Amino acid sequence: MGKVDLILTAETIVTMDNEYRIFKHGAIAIKDDAIIAVGPKDEIQRDHSAGEVIDLGSRVIIPGLINAHTHVPMTLLRGLVDDLRLDVWLMGYMMPVEREFVSPEFCRLGTLIACAELIRGGVTCFADMYYFEDTVAQATKDAGMRAICGQSILKFPTPDAESFEDSLAASRSFIEKWKDDSLIIPAVAPHAPYTCTEEILEACRDLAMEYDVPLHIHISETNGEVDDWRETYNMPVVPWLKKLDLFDAKVIAAHCVHIDDGEIHTLEHAGVGIAHNPSSNLKLASGFAPIIEMLGTGLQIGIGTDGTASNNDLDMFEEMRLASFIAKTVTSDPTALPARNALEMATRMGAKALHISHLTGSLEPGKRADLIAIDQDQVHNIPHFEREPQSVYSRLIYATKSSDVQDVMVNGRWLMRDSELLTIQEGDLISQAAQYAAKIDAFLTDREGSVLSKLIAIGGAEQEESYEIQIKVKLDDPQAVIAMLDKDVFEIRRQAHYLEYDKYFRFTLPEEARLRYREDEFVNDEGEVFNVRSRLTLTGPAAEREYHNSALLSRSRFIAPAKYSPRFYREYFKPSSEISIHKDRLRWLICYEDLEFFINIDHLLEPKVDGCFLEIKSRTWSRRDAEMKAELITSIMKHLEIQDTEPVLLEYPDLIGNGN
Ligand SMILES: [Zn+2]
Repeated sequence: MGKVDLILTAETIVTMDNEYRIFKHGAIAIKDDAIIAVGPKDEIQRDHSAGEVIDLGSRVIIPGLINAHTHVPMTLLRGLVDDLRLDVWLMGYMMPVEREFVSPEFCRLGTLIACAELIRGGVTCFADMYYFEDTVAQATKDAGMRAICGQSILKFPTPDAESFEDSLAASRSFIEKWKDDSLIIPAVAPHAPYTCTEEILEACRDLAMEYDVPLHIHISETNGEVDDWRETYNMPVVPWLKKLDLFDAKVIAAHCVHIDDGEIHTLEHAGVGIAHNPSSNLKLASGFAPIIEMLGTGLQIGIGTDGTASNNDLDMFEEMRLASFIAKTVTSDPTALPARNALEMATRMGAKALHISHLTGSLEPGKRADLIAIDQDQVHNIPHFEREPQSVYSRLIYATKSSDVQDVMVNGRWLMRDSELLTIQEGDLISQAAQYAAKIDAFLTDREGSVLSKLIAIGGAEQEESYEIQIKVKLDDPQAVIAMLDKDVFEIRRQAHYLEYDKYFRFTLPEEARLRYREDEFVNDEGEVFNVRSRLTLTGPAAEREYHNSALLSRSRFIAPAKYSPRFYREYFKPSSEISIHKDRLRWLICYEDLEFFINIDHLLEPKVDGCFLEIKSRTWSRRDAEMKAELITSIMKHLEIQDTEPVLLEYPDLIGNGN
């Protein structure tokens, strides 16, 4: 007779082992952190003597649920901003707020809040990716949960690292510290292909392989990401990652919403684990991951909640239900992803997807004692049909609520008994979270009041105080002027032809600022576009001074590379009005009297204006130079033999006249 620490008995035990065994009047024998035996109660009690026997009565014992993809500290950002597109939400709000607030203190509090919610919802293990992951790991261990903790690595500065080299070094010491822990499995987490570089991904792959730890990454979450990849690399994301040998590591790939059959086979062949996030994909309208096709090839798929900012909870019962419902609807097949398979994805298969199936995911001898007990006698889950033992899966997936979870054990230790948390004080967490919310509210209220601070929040704005000299005249015959440029008095230094697409976003109070999104398409002699560049310029109102035939403007400008689409900026900045201008521009950089000027000949295509416009302009950073140039413009006009030098009035004079 074997001696064990604990025997748990219950009316039903759902093992989720290879044979999907279910024991009526079953028992589990547990010694230290491990399951010693699972089977009929009589047999287990006959073969084992236990220090303690606990009868869980009519509750159903199942393996603890595994949340295959989340960002636990983000509980503190739950409900901060919703109903936006992924890029605006992420780049416009989440990342700026994270840069400002995310600290070890933030991550510890956020993690403990998440652990409380996860334990209450029957989750015993999760795969995380965030910043200050050492703090996340410590808080998780303090709460008694099992987790794969991945230190995020991105190509831009993060709350915990100035550069990717710093975060890579931090990842290495993080792995060193936690690699032998009984609950925490350290991982490397390059955030996504679009937030990393090839160099970063290769370094992450090497680090993960050196320590044989998982590599956790977001892959092909949105259509836009895949379109960008096809455009830039002429291939979708998965083959590009394969070329970098990323899949040589033990990869956990979150999302994989937009992948084709070839990519599915590549992932399967490489043994990549998938984390399917139904709520997040629905809420952010990312699309429907081809789960049935993936399962068909034998890919291992877990289910995740993603972070609470995109869900907004950590309820795995909801995710299992949605996974099943979405699969049925997308395939028009109500037999698709039946209840048992949904539970499998959140337990045994989820463990395989996370590369930890030797530890957890099912109730069988040798695995750690990670289990939960569920009350199925609430009104929303009765009656019970007994003729078919499989009906327990239907009750678990289609009617059980996360609040029906009564008891949670991880690694042989109780974390919740009879709905009472044993490792976390919830009261303290609630008041501390409220304090953070107030601080974040104040920060965003302040930022939203200024176009400039919003521009700075998304990064990369450089200020430039400058003086512009400009004149604009309408031309009937541009060829005559172009011919004059050959005169010896002008030295032509550069010449270009491009198509300009400008969007002007205008704002009313407080700044009356103007934000221009400009895309230039450079055109070669054959009329083909050979290069494109995009810029963003925020200009304040100009101080203007009239010269004879020209205007001198001084203004402050903030210039930033336009990393995102006009649609992103429109949704992020919410301008009060918007004007589009499209022109065909011939441009010369000339030198006259040792000073440089730009000569532009513009055909306005939108709004359509007949004829064309000549602009002579220059920008300087000193007022003295600007004044000299303003005086020279008159003689340039004479050399170009332009008679009518009255500045013209256009339909959008302030827009068409300004800006280089
Ligand atoms: Zn995520």
